[in-house]
Amino acid sequence: MDAKTKDYLFDKLLYQIEKPGRYIGNEWNSINKNPEDVNIRFAFCFPDVYEIGMSHLGMKILYHLLNEQKYIYCERVFAPWTDMEILMRKENIKLFTLESKDYIDKFDFIGFTLQYEMSYTNIVNMLDLAGVPILSEERGEGTPFIIAGGPCAYNPEPLSGIIDFFILGDGEEIILEIMDIYKQWKDSNKKKKDFLKSLTKVQGVYVPSFYKVNYNEDNTIESVEPIAEETPKKVKKRILKDLSGSYYPDKLIVPLIDIVHDRVILEIFRGCTRGCRFCQAGMIYRPVRERTVEELLDTTQKILDSTGYDEISLSSLSTGDYSYLTGLVENLLERYEKDKIGISLPSLRIDSLTLKLLDDVQKVRKSGLTFAPEAGTQRLRNVINKNVTEDDLMGSVNAAFDSGYSNIKLYFMMGLPTETMEDIEGIAEISHKVLGDYYKLLKEKRRKGISLTVSVSSFVPKPFTPFNGNPKIV
Ligand code: SF4
Repeated sequence: MDAKTKDYLFDKLLYQIEKPGRYIGNEWNSINKNPEDVNIRFAFCFPDVYEIGMSHLGMKILYHLLNEQKYIYCERVFAPWTDMEILMRKENIKLFTLESKDYIDKFDFIGFTLQYEMSYTNIVNMLDLAGVPILSEERGEGTPFIIAGGPCAYNPEPLSGIIDFFILGDGEEIILEIMDIYKQWKDSNKKKKDFLKSLTKVQGVYVPSFYKVNYNEDNTIESVEPIAEETPKKVKKRILKDLSGSYYPDKLIVPLIDIVHDRVILEIFRGCTRGCRFCQAGMIYRPVRERTVEELLDTTQKILDSTGYDEISLSSLSTGDYSYLTGLVENLLERYEKDKIGISLPSLRIDSLTLKLLDDVQKVRKSGLTFAPEAGTQRLRNVINKNVTEDDLMGSVNAAFDSGYSNIKLYFMMGLPTETMEDIEGIAEISHKVLGDYYKLLKEKRRKGISLTVSVSSFVPKPFTPFNGNPKIV
């Protein structure tokens, strides 16, 4: 974006939209470099609005990791909200980064993180707004490489005409290797195809243009064949073998506006062994790898010092399964209780909750608790391998009520394989039961009344799960 357009953006356009804070950047701990001083410019695009993208842990890790390399400048891009998009299209302003406000069509890489399929249309829209041809085959030499990673990259075919290459597995394990190969390629003056070809040899990279996909009559995939002999038949994901001691940023960007998760996010482990049959994350992030308590405490101190946050969220797929959870919580409380820094546990399994843990975490601040029974009857919970019983749920909920919690969320899914109306009605029944148990409490324990949120989302069969694309298979 030239200086005149930038002035116009700040002086006129941002006044006309709902949340200018989504686009102005310059937040605390955001990184500004001189583009002239780097070899590689990387636009990290989150295909959703700022508030959602800024809450995403993967973006925080990769943004800081890339920017710690002197030769790379990684900048953030989010999907503009409709009010901003209308103005951008009207005023011929292309998609720009939050850091330099430069347009991304001349960057080396435009990287998308694929968290959910519903964001795919945003990817198309963002490329269109960026003035970059949407289909790979229409992007010639001198255009950016469009790349993608994240859980949905494990099923790359829907975007294979758009994305030049996909990264499978832990991004921080592979991204710098790719950047190194790119740097050499850029100095060599070779064609884009040569760079892509060299990537086919890197474990964890899938380059669709080097494969032929054959379809069955019902549009399911029959086979995926490499088109060159030296291209591997199977692409294996990249795994960060030892999470402990691996890169984790000690600074996080502090947003200027409210975002979904505005706190210290501390990743305590990766992976989950529970094996719920619908859960893609449980399958693709295996094996379980834990960080040590010592390093978590050290990282926490650094992030608190650099951000000023007053809440720490212990993040993972199933936080209650962390081997040293009690010790970690006790240590955090010992250090930070006096400063009124709260702890939140966002992803607890119903059967992993203990009264002691509940009592501990609510010492500073009592946030809500979320439980995910996922299905309304025991029969269906057994089908999906969610090995929790109604007694587990009621036991945990009652323990939470006893500890003074009154803000409870219950997550369910509908459309699960073998589901009947009985299972759907079971969702209402179990929710009423939770409500009923609250009112069985003594009046003085009930405080201000209960807030119970029952969330029911549609089941989406995910690749690499036992329900892989065919909900009839049980
Ligand atoms: S639903 Fe939760 S507990 Fe089950 S496999 Fe997935 S992450 Fe693990």
